[in-house]
Amino acid sequence: MRQLLYLLIDKFLALLPGVQPYPRVLQFPITGRCNSKCGTCSVPELAPDVDMTVERVREIMKNDLFKNLQAIGINGGEPSLVKELPLIIDELLLLPRLRSIHMITNGMLTGRILEITKTMYEACRSKGVRFELSISLDGIEEVYWACRGVSSFAKTMATIKTVVEHPGVYCNSFTAGCTVSRYNVDHLTANDTYCAENGIPITYRLAVPNRRIHNLGYTDDFSVLVDENHRQTALEFFFGKVVDGNGSWRQRFTYYAIFKYLEAKGHRRLADCFWKWRDATVDEEGNIYYCATESKCLGKLDGSNAKAIFHSRESLQYRKELISENCQHCIHYAFFPTIGGALDFLGFILRRLSFPGSYRLMRRLG
Ligand code: SF4
Repeated sequence: MRQLLYLLIDKFLALLPGVQPYPRVLQFPITGRCNSKCGTCSVPELAPDVDMTVERVREIMKNDLFKNLQAIGINGGEPSLVKELPLIIDELLLLPRLRSIHMITNGMLTGRILEITKTMYEACRSKGVRFELSISLDGIEEVYWACRGVSSFAKTMATIKTVVEHPGVYCNSFTAGCTVSRYNVDHLTANDTYCAENGIPITYRLAVPNRRIHNLGYTDDFSVLVDENHRQTALEFFFGKVVDGNGSWRQRFTYYAIFKYLEAKGHRRLADCFWKWRDATVDEEGNIYYCATESKCLGKLDGSNAKAIFHSRESLQYRKELISENCQHCIHYAFFPTIGGALDFLGFILRRLSFPGSYRLMRRLG
C-alpha cells in the first residue's frame, strides 16, 4: 500500500513542470564478468572485464540522486563472481530509505553463492531490508545447456534445492527465473512441471533486445517473435499462465501483458515502466542510464554529478526520444499496469468469469 502511495505521489510530481522525482528503484549490474555463455546475452564477450567496488559504490551513493532509493536490483554478468559483493551490500544498506534488495544469479557456484547469500540476507535482516533471490533456470538438462551454453544444470539445481529446502536461511523470498527464447520455448511445460514436482517457484519472462547485455545485433537468433510457430507456442504458454489461477494478481497481469505483446507481434505494451519517468540504472563502471534495455549511457558518475547528469536538459530531451522510439515495442519491466492496461486486464477477467453463464444462456435461447 505504501509503495502505491509513493508511486502516486511520484506520478503527480512528474506531471509538474520543472519537477523530476528522484529514482526509487535502481538496476545495478555490478560486473561485466560471467561464467555462463547464454545464447541471449554477450556480456562475457563484450562487456568490460570490470567489477563494481565498495569504494566506487560509496562514492556514487553519496549523491542526492540516490537518497530516495527503496529497491535495488543486483545483477551482472554474474554477481557472485564479485569478490566484494557482501561489502557492497553493506554499503548499500546505509541508504536511508532502502527497503529491498533483489539479486539474480545463475546459481552455478553453489558453495560461494550459498555462503554469501546467507551473509547478505543476515546483513539485510539486521537493517529491516528484504533480501530477495532469483536463480536462472531456463530449462532442464539439455535445454538448460542449449540456453546457457554450459552444462551446469546439476550445480544450479544444487543451489536451488538448498535454498528451497531451507526457507528463511538464505533470503526472504525465492523464485527461479526462466527467460523464454527460441532455445527453450518448446520445453516450457516440461520446465513448469519439473518445478512444480520439486516445489520450486518459477516465473517467466521473454528474452528481449537489451542494450545492457549487448544482444541488440542478433535478436533474430533468440526472439520467439521471429518464427510464427515459436510465437504461437509462447502465446499459448503465457495465456495458460494467466488463466491457470496460480500466482499473484500482479504476476498474472505481467503474463497477460506478455500475452498481449506476443499477440500484437511485439507492438503493444499494457504496462507502465518506471524507468520512463523516474528510475535509473548504473553499471559496473559507474556509468548511468535510464533503463537498462534501450537507454544510451548518460555519463560517468564521479560522486558529485549524478543528479546533474540524470536531470540535465539534454538527458531529459533524450529520454523523450527514447520513449517515443522504443517503449511501445518493449515488454521489459511489465509488472505495473497503465490505466488502459488495468482496464484491459479487468475486462479479460470479467469476460472469463461470465463466460460459463453466458454460454448456458445462449444455449437455452437456442
Ligand atoms: S524501452 Fe522499455 S525498459 Fe526502457 S523505458 Fe521504455 S518501456 Fe522502459
